[in-house]
Amino acid sequence: MTKDQLSQDQLSHEQAVQQNPLPGHLQAQPVQAAPRPPLQPSMSTVRLHGAHDLRLHHEAVPAHVPGEVFLKVQAVSVCGSDMHYYHEGGIGPAVIRRPMTPGHEFAATVMDGSGLPYGFVDGTLVAVDPAQHCGQCEQCHAGYPNLCPNVHFLGSPGVDGGLAQYISVRPSSLYAVPAGFSPALTALLEPLGVAVHALDITKLRPMSGVVVLGAGPIGLMTMQVAHVCGAAHVRVVEPRAARRAQALALGADSVHEDISEILELTGGRGEDYVLEATTSPDAPEQAAQVARIGGRITLVGIPDGDHFQMSAANARRKALIIKLSRRMGHVYPRAIELVRSGRVNIESIATHHYDMNGAVQAFKDAYDAPDGFLKAVIYPNGQSENTQPNGIPGVLGPTM
Ligand SMILES: [Zn+2]
Ligand SMILES: [Zn+2]
Repeated sequence: MTKDQLSQDQLSHEQAVQQNPLPGHLQAQPVQAAPRPPLQPSMSTVRLHGAHDLRLHHEAVPAHVPGEVFLKVQAVSVCGSDMHYYHEGGIGPAVIRRPMTPGHEFAATVMDGSGLPYGFVDGTLVAVDPAQHCGQCEQCHAGYPNLCPNVHFLGSPGVDGGLAQYISVRPSSLYAVPAGFSPALTALLEPLGVAVHALDITKLRPMSGVVVLGAGPIGLMTMQVAHVCGAAHVRVVEPRAARRAQALALGADSVHEDISEILELTGGRGEDYVLEATTSPDAPEQAAQVARIGGRITLVGIPDGDHFQMSAANARRKALIIKLSRRMGHVYPRAIELVRSGRVNIESIATHHYDMNGAVQAFKDAYDAPDGFLKAVIYPNGQSENTQPNGIPGVLGPTM
């Protein structure tokens, strides 16, 4: 692609990266912000009013918040957890009580010189860590910010997320991405971070056997990160044929409709590690059955109905080590490097693309998840400037 073909925003991003080559906010390179036409007084946003009640709104553009960076949202990917809010109106005690703007997986560009004190020049494309932890509590002090009980998580009940044209975010949550990263790819760094964290807490020993339950976006990313972490092989269990095919295409060593195939393959032993990435309340039971004696299970998925089951005797007799994964810690730099180095392919997981007017349809499609669908990406400021092929493996799927 020549520079002539690049959109204005991509050009400004490229220039921004050249001027500020290191990700993060330590490389202050103040430059004069380019003159910009005044902001439109209102913006499009989307609010979830309750289960299956998502509406497009036009609201005042948010004010600049001192100490925060003002962002133009470029891409928002729809997550399985968004589907829980969409379908059930909440996740456990986190219930929607007032109309909420979803969106915790998003990419944005820096505006209005608001990032200059933190090293982000205008036009820099950033990934946004949606978890704004308090930094003061016992868990934060102990180095587990993902467990902070006081966290403000963008796009959860009480905290509006990124599915809007503009948003103001703390600078410590922003990560500049390398040139060539598309907004969709940048949004997907958040779920990739979930996969990285899952492998962190799994403590995978090299050349071990791994099972991943579920070939949705998180399962497909977890499978790829498990390979990077030195798994001897990664077997993926997924009931849907289309998703098994996607898992094979992204590097699964074998795919299975049911765990019984793996038990047969291993002579009843099972595998060393099982990473569960489904919404099924029965998956933890399957994980316990397919884990070897003394094996290790990591539960990543959020079960439908907020309950899961695992029979005690099998898990107890095998003395399984069971770990529940909660969001992620400080993983963005590694997630970025996984993509930059080509060690994982996540862009092909973004299969469906929508403008803001298609946001409601995007959630419907994500809920129905027809064959071939993995992840919806919504472009609050339009997709024309944001869906250029960028040379990274992966294809842009059907556009709505
Ligand atoms: Zn998510
Ligand atoms: Zn805290």
